[in-house]
Amino acid sequence: MKLVCDRCDRKSAYHREYSGESLCSKCFSKSLREKVAKTISKYSMLKYGDKVAVAVSGGKDSLSLLHIMIPICKKHGSNICVVTIDEGIEGYRDESLDIVKKFASQMNVEHKVLSYKELYNVDLEESLQLRKGRKMSSCSICGTFRRRAIDIAAESVQANVVATAHNLDDSLQTFLINVLAGDVERIGWTYPEPIEYANGLRKIKPLTEIYEHEVAFYAFINEIPFQSEECPHMNEGIRTDIREFLNKLENNHAGIKYNAYNTIIKIAKRIRESSDNTDKKHNKCVLCGRDSTNPVCSVCNMIITLKQ
Ligand code: SF4
Ligand code: ZN
Repeated sequence: MKLVCDRCDRKSAYHREYSGESLCSKCFSKSLREKVAKTISKYSMLKYGDKVAVAVSGGKDSLSLLHIMIPICKKHGSNICVVTIDEGIEGYRDESLDIVKKFASQMNVEHKVLSYKELYNVDLEESLQLRKGRKMSSCSICGTFRRRAIDIAAESVQANVVATAHNLDDSLQTFLINVLAGDVERIGWTYPEPIEYANGLRKIKPLTEIYEHEVAFYAFINEIPFQSEECPHMNEGIRTDIREFLNKLENNHAGIKYNAYNTIIKIAKRIRESSDNTDKKHNKCVLCGRDSTNPVCSVCNMIITLKQ
């Protein structure tokens, strides 16, 4: 690593392996914020007057996203607020709820918390008991509940945009998981250009072109307090194995994740375009009345299966 920053004359603190650049903390933070702003404008993620709900869990990624989005939203004439979902994971969620509450109030941003229990009458731990011997991973139940919970939380604060902290590593992992599961349509979801859903919400992923370890370094140098403890269920699925595999590749071949990301978004774009052309009906779920392509939505389906 060079001793002096490539952009100023301060001491360098970070070496960007894939570009060869050495940066001081200040120039690193600035470069990350600029990259995010570029992603937002490249994919038309924000419009003047939007109200953006940032989904913040209390981990490094979502708190960094909030820290980066506050000045960007101000520049775009958009309002910003925070939504947090309480899954009901014993010994894990309480600490992070506290961190988000303090950080949001420090940043002077409205904060809304919604729990699975109040929305679905069952929390994650209870759901895991209910699945008995069925082949359902914690994260597949949690992910289905969380997507809906974030939508409802955003609607409750009159937001029309939901920003989530998915980074470049998340996109790559999700792509590979979908390839391995044969879920071709979901690959199209990786493409960063937001879709306007029937309920009027636009979902954006401003960190989608940023490496996970760069988000972690941003949180560290900006002294953002985050929960370091990980969810006790996170190693049950295949994601951790894929994450380790990709990190090993990156260690041996700097920049390979970035190249792979550029390839997968081209594939995702084609899949998105071809599925946009198929005539999909937008119905309402006969049970909860929310938008669904099937007569019963995925959340109601999950609850029925669990309670059987
Ligand atoms: Fe839910 Fe899985 Fe994330 Fe834990 S790791 S919060 S179970 S999605
Ligand atoms: Zn439903």
